[in-house]
Amino acid sequence: MDFRELKEKDGAYVAGTYNRFSADIYEGKGATLRSEDGKEYIDFGSGIAVNSFGVNDEAWKEAVIAQINKVQHASNNYYTRPQAELAELLCKRTGAGKVFFSNSGAEANECAIKTARKYSFDKYGEGRYHIVTLKNSFHGRTMATLTATGQDAMHKYFMPFLDGFTYAEPTFAGVKAECGNGTCAVMLELVQGEGGVNALPVDDVKKIEKFCKERDILLIIDEVQTGNGRTGSLYAYMQYGISPDIVTTAKGLAGGLPLGATMFFEKTQNTLTAGDHGSTFGGNPVSCAGAISVLSRIDDKLLLEVQGKSAYMRTYLGRMPNVAGVSGLGLMIGLELKNKNAREVAERCLERGLIVLTAKSRLRLLPPLTVSKAEMDAGLKILNEVLSE
Ligand SMILES: *Cc1c(COP(=O)(O)O)cnc(C)c1O
Repeated sequence: MDFRELKEKDGAYVAGTYNRFSADIYEGKGATLRSEDGKEYIDFGSGIAVNSFGVNDEAWKEAVIAQINKVQHASNNYYTRPQAELAELLCKRTGAGKVFFSNSGAEANECAIKTARKYSFDKYGEGRYHIVTLKNSFHGRTMATLTATGQDAMHKYFMPFLDGFTYAEPTFAGVKAECGNGTCAVMLELVQGEGGVNALPVDDVKKIEKFCKERDILLIIDEVQTGNGRTGSLYAYMQYGISPDIVTTAKGLAGGLPLGATMFFEKTQNTLTAGDHGSTFGGNPVSCAGAISVLSRIDDKLLLEVQGKSAYMRTYLGRMPNVAGVSGLGLMIGLELKNKNAREVAERCLERGLIVLTAKSRLRLLPPLTVSKAEMDAGLKILNEVLSE
């Protein structure tokens, strides 16, 4: 089937919710992808920060296939080894006490929202259910996480949205101003991903943490995109030097398979009890086996490499024409452009064989953590050419 036929079929039968780029992804190795007709792309997207170790990673495939050869699904009515072992790994690496597994970022956040409200209900009774999120945030597409998302443009059509969410300016003063007696939690991304790759200042985040602790307001950190090595530490909160009450993650966790995790720290680890929450597919053993393979290789050596690659790319990006600024942390990179439209630049890059993403008015680069020097150079060369046009 040629690409034109594929596009027609997709257009005819797949719900039109995506503004897709004009390319199909068929196969690949590492950070090099190919479409069915053989056109090659350097991948600076990782499928939106999902393919942490690129595609076709041998160790990951081995782990996943070994589990497929045993059992692909068991339901959460029974015990499975990969789920328990992944939970242990996550707890040991983060200091969390318990983990709930789901299938996606939105679900991981949905669970965090429910947990925060129950924590408060158990301790303070009814009425203390308000959650403060940040303007320009992104927390998902379900009704609760869409409500939590602090972007007016997303709060249309689907009324009524949930009660009990307010949106703060992304500063300590902004968050403080939105918190009241009815507030049970503050939820934020340390680097806003979809919102334009904006890293929050450490100082503000530390003040928010202290403020929340003093009032028993839970601090929920949404690490769906920033997690699993993406920013140069295992989780971004670690380099901010804070202790959250709940951390959510998904995207890069299982190296390309659907998996969400909500990690509960000291205060929240016993909040959810039997019957409070659940998922049919959540913590699927194949996804968990993939995640164990990924997580156990995100060690200090790999994190140092991520930091080195980040510095290398940022140096070159900062010197490119029509770049007004480079934002983000680690291999989560935003590019503010001058005289250029980000979507158009991304389309030109694609034509020349480079996959890049956008976030609001910025270009967004999220290469696999294992991207090679040759792949970085090839991708940067194409981007430089496109920005020079
Ligand atoms: C992608 C993303 C989500 C939603 O994840 P899904 O897997 O698409 O549901 C939530 N929060 C953040 C910060 C994200 O980047």
